[in-house]
Amino acid sequence: MQSEVHMRAAFASAYAALGAPKGLAATDHTQLAMLLDSIEAQLPDAPYSVVPTSFDPHDDGLRAFPRSLETRWTSAENFFLNVGARGIMMRLPLFWQMEPLLFAAGQMAGAPLFVCDQSNMPLGAAAIRTAHMDTVVTDAGDAFAFSDYLVLTGAVAPKAWLVVHAFDAHSWDTPAALVDARLAQEVHLFPGIPVLASCERAPKVGAGFHACNDYRVDINETARLTSINDEDPLPLLNYDTEVPLAASGTCICGREIFVRA
Ligand SMILES: [Zn+2]
Repeated sequence: MQSEVHMRAAFASAYAALGAPKGLAATDHTQLAMLLDSIEAQLPDAPYSVVPTSFDPHDDGLRAFPRSLETRWTSAENFFLNVGARGIMMRLPLFWQMEPLLFAAGQMAGAPLFVCDQSNMPLGAAAIRTAHMDTVVTDAGDAFAFSDYLVLTGAVAPKAWLVVHAFDAHSWDTPAALVDARLAQEVHLFPGIPVLASCERAPKVGAGFHACNDYRVDINETARLTSINDEDPLPLLNYDTEVPLAASGTCICGREIFVRA
């Protein structure tokens, strides 16, 4: 209980540092939107990067969510190193603002980044075949569409896929066609904020997810998130995602498995 009190105090000072009015805490979508509205004017001059709070550019509820400038996409870095990526093809929507994080992750793994529009499948296939772009990073919808295209045209398949699911998507499905590839899957709360990730030891399609390092995941029918990274400029406090989640036993690695309920 004491730690809960300490945590609330630490979070209150983080909100105060952002310039938010007293009493606001990121506990659900409504509170978070109010908090972000209250700090919107300060954000352009503040030492933070921002990510959109929606995967949909037409979402009326879209706000800018502050992140530490030190933020790295370490799970992507580790995946690129593990699979020995020679080149990384980013097919994520540009609106998600993931290119800087992905470029930095590629630099750490010694692999160049190639940005390919999702609509340009022939170029994507050519980059795999001729330019060593052997590792594809994309969203779930494009994973289905692009893998279908590669199969139907008899094109060379990439060695590895990193598939990003939107937390609020109706499902977190990945195409069965990826079963022979090196695969990593992540569920992002907002673009660039991994909350759940497939296990490095049991990464197969449909195997469920583990909690990532920066958030504690609690389940009260829906998934609740609490920030556990002290560097987080806007920590979430038992934040109700409104996404149904269930615990599904213990993985071979010893961690808890979560599945979409
Ligand atoms: Zn595991």
